[in-house]
Amino acid sequence: MAILVCGGAGYIGSHTVWELLDHGEEIIVADNLEKGHKAALQGGKLIKGDLRDKEFVRKLFRKHDIEGVINFAAYIEVGESVQLPMKYYHNNVVLSLNILEAMAEAHTPYLVFSSTAATYGAVETSPITEDFPTIPTNPYGETKLTVEKAIKWTAQAHGLKYVILRYFNASGAHPSSKIGEDHHPETHLIPLVLQAALGKRPSIKIFGNDYPTPDGTCIRDYIHVCDLAQAHYLALQHLRSGKENTTCNLGNGLGFSVKEVIETAEKVTGLKIPQEMAPRRPGDPPALVASSDRAKSLLGWKPKYADLATIIETAWNWHKNHPNGYGDKK
Ligand code: UDP
Repeated sequence: MAILVCGGAGYIGSHTVWELLDHGEEIIVADNLEKGHKAALQGGKLIKGDLRDKEFVRKLFRKHDIEGVINFAAYIEVGESVQLPMKYYHNNVVLSLNILEAMAEAHTPYLVFSSTAATYGAVETSPITEDFPTIPTNPYGETKLTVEKAIKWTAQAHGLKYVILRYFNASGAHPSSKIGEDHHPETHLIPLVLQAALGKRPSIKIFGNDYPTPDGTCIRDYIHVCDLAQAHYLALQHLRSGKENTTCNLGNGLGFSVKEVIETAEKVTGLKIPQEMAPRRPGDPPALVASSDRAKSLLGWKPKYADLATIIETAWNWHKNHPNGYGDKK
């Protein structure tokens, strides 16, 4: 039986596919390649198609023997989601509902869903545990929360088993340097900082230095993409062994400011990275730092790349070796 990985040609999806293949899993990837890259897949069967198309999704389940689903497929840009909320609802929510309906129809038992720290919104204290209130400050987080709720109700009605994983700031690249982060446009801090180090951008803009944090810039919890990948495999095993439905944060429990990330990147690359101050980006909460105790105790998750410099180093190796990413301009 196969695991269907929706959005498996994207950044976190492709690292998870690699991890699952290492464990001998049979993988089917469904991706429309709008954001994902064929070259990011080192194995598995790719079926190109649009998950917003209900018939396409139903056919996947009718044609293949699918044991479980990992759903990564989503638009992910916080800033864009504030400008174009309906784009996010039409994609992130609709395609996930199609998957849930098809799973219920086919009696597919297991779902691992890719969610986000953006579901929490502007929290006052950290570390954030899974029982903190969820009040998103942007439509991206809101669409992920909407799907989380749909999953919980579907589980109750149709017996679906699920693990929801709320990622903090996914970063880094596979240690082989064969796959890594390549978004078009790129909006994430670490790849933008490294592109500025490579001279591919004139500078890195710091979005706001008047936040209520020690140096005034936003604080985030950066977590290595391979550690996220490991958690998806463990989540699947958790469900296979008949354990309970759950929602788990995935972060390192350490917060770094935008300025600290830039300083660490300068040390790792040995290069001076030009920076400039810019206004706050709408929708950005001041600080998001995870408690991942539940993932550790329930799933047995053990991050391997917890150190920020190590995370940035793996990303740097990818960017140096692939200055144009996968090269398939999007
Ligand atoms: N950020 C920044 N300049 C950039 C991109 C991001 O100052 O060019 C900041 C952003 O405001 C946030 C942090 O870096 O506080 C991490 O942003 P990213 O988009 O990487 O992830 P997010 O936390 O939004 O998921």
